[in-house]
Amino acid sequence: MTEPTITARVFFEKARSGQLTAIRCGACGELAMPPKELCPSCHAHQWQPVTLVGDGTIASFTVIRVAPRAHAADVPYAVAVVRLKEGVSILGRIVDVPLDKLAVGLPVRFRPLIAKDLTASVGFGPA
Ligand SMILES: [Zn+2]
Repeated sequence: MTEPTITARVFFEKARSGQLTAIRCGACGELAMPPKELCPSCHAHQWQPVTLVGDGTIASFTVIRVAPRAHAADVPYAVAVVRLKEGVSILGRIVDVPLDKLAVGLPVRFRPLIAKDLTASVGFGPA
């Protein structure tokens, strides 16, 4: 039994400092991100941290035009599910891509965001 070395909090702190980390199940090899308690695939609890390059493509996206008050000044902005080269997907804010240029399959690259909300530190910009 291995303790998880990357918790969700550590994941977002690392993201903020510019590093995307996934965890790989030591039992079945499944990648997960952000970290989970148990492997969703085989329910083992043997995580090993894996540093991701941060290159991926947009799998789906949504343009936010009415935002919660904390983000009201930012609208409109886009959030996207990005499918990373390593095969995991993560939700992030899209930055520096004109909204009318957004498309499924568009290559993007991880970009750390400084946000008050730690979980908002994952961003993606043009590749
Ligand atoms: Zn597993």
